[in-house]
Amino acid sequence: MKYDVIIIGAGMSGTLAGIKLKAQGKSFLIIEKAARMGGTWRDNTYPGLTCDVQSHAYTYSFEPNPEWTRTFPSGPEIHSYFENVFKKYKLAENTRFNTEIANAKWQKDHWLLQDQHGQQYAGTVVIAATGVLHHPHRPDIPGLADFKGSLQHTAAWDHSVPLDGKKIAIIGNGSTGVQMVSALSTRAHVRHFQRTPQWIFPVENMVFTEEQREEFRKNRDLLIYLHDEPTYVAAVERFTNAVLDPDSPEIMEIQKICQDNLHNSVADPVLRSKLTPSYRAGCKRLIYSPDYYRAIQHPNSQLITEGIERVEATGIRTSDGQLHELDIIALATGFKADRFVRPMQVIGLHDKTLDQAWENGPTAYKAISMPDFPNFYFMNGPSSPVGNFSLIDTAEMQWGYINQLIERLETANIAGLSARHQALDTYDQERKEAARNSVFGSGCTSWYLDKNGIPNTWPWSQSRFREEMRAPVWQDYAEHHLQTVAA
Ligand code: NAP
Repeated sequence: MKYDVIIIGAGMSGTLAGIKLKAQGKSFLIIEKAARMGGTWRDNTYPGLTCDVQSHAYTYSFEPNPEWTRTFPSGPEIHSYFENVFKKYKLAENTRFNTEIANAKWQKDHWLLQDQHGQQYAGTVVIAATGVLHHPHRPDIPGLADFKGSLQHTAAWDHSVPLDGKKIAIIGNGSTGVQMVSALSTRAHVRHFQRTPQWIFPVENMVFTEEQREEFRKNRDLLIYLHDEPTYVAAVERFTNAVLDPDSPEIMEIQKICQDNLHNSVADPVLRSKLTPSYRAGCKRLIYSPDYYRAIQHPNSQLITEGIERVEATGIRTSDGQLHELDIIALATGFKADRFVRPMQVIGLHDKTLDQAWENGPTAYKAISMPDFPNFYFMNGPSSPVGNFSLIDTAEMQWGYINQLIERLETANIAGLSARHQALDTYDQERKEAARNSVFGSGCTSWYLDKNGIPNTWPWSQSRFREEMRAPVWQDYAEHHLQTVAA
């Protein structure tokens, strides 16, 4: 059987594409390597996991959720929201779980995919909804293998390991490490290993009362309003505008809020100085936290800024010669953000592989399409917008665009569509220039940067992205016909 569309990945984006294709009566298959849906919310279950985007904004626009318990709900609550939506739209009947695609090859008018067991699947269009942050980065610290306690990456947390009263090292202070410190400081002896300080933006995590939830249940219009609540929408727009210019008044305002938060929360000048970054707020992904500063000042906690020299059987030895004895080491060290659909091998026109096309780093025209890879489209792919806002909104805009590319195959009677080389080159050139000048490129390291140190993100405003996703510029696409291959 040849499907109209094959979606790789049953996370937030793949589920969205599945819902939309089902509504259109298209034949489609979702292929998921794990046994459950959920992507990042399935894989990440570390203590303290939450989402720093407001819950009512972090929903599909067409599936508001009256049951959210807080402004920033826990990871399990978010995962169960996605599972409920998946169930509601009966997507399990369209999904093959425990199936990992090893390779995909373009065949003149469709893709042939092969899984780890050699089984093949044919589809006219492939949507790579494989997420960005799903290959854990395990740092190359000498002696890691010698540790006799429990060593874990936050993206594969083993809940059978007891935490209460234990001595636990948390290496890394991105969103993950900070959330873990907040969750564990009252339960365990936390040693937070910080290589680079982070700016922390204060937020309040409010509880929705039963009365409020009852009101949400009765009033769908209110939920729709909260999804696009004007102050949230304005804040996102302000933030996305602010990152374009590291000297903008908006970024200075964010910086001031973070500085005040640090000054008002941490009295000890030595600790405060250790927690003070030397780069602009917003350069690394801004950390939103209601309680990190309180947690790191808890008597159980210790901030360790000396470099890690090596790991030994019983703990971590720092550059000052001290051995920090430990029961558990948690690697909150992030992800390999340049993998995207890889390690899957993707072979397009002229037997070109995606690895070859990405020799200089992952890219895609408007974050959607690669020249010579007809009908192969990304959701949350290379150069997609990232920042402190809902990736669901981004995926919904991308779906609207990809849907038009799919429809075009039928209306124009063509076998395939892919961005033209010239279109990608122009996009990339303008994008890199703008990205270099954004706050993300203003002098820090982060997972946003490509191997040349250029932010691999959408460097313009949210409203520009919305506008550009409204309709494809057809001149920027090459049409592929069965007999002839367009230039
Ligand atoms: P991350 O932001 O990439 O942070 C990794 C941390 O590990 C950094 O502090 C880094 O230090 C440190 N590190 C890496 N290698 C190290 C080494 N060899 N020695 C010492 N420290 C090392 O990863 P993350 O915290 O997992 O977050 C990744 C992204 O996931 C976030 O930016 C966000 O987009 C998403 N996320 C979102 C939420 C949410 O609430 N929405 C929650 C968690 C994650 P340096 O800074 O010095 O490199």
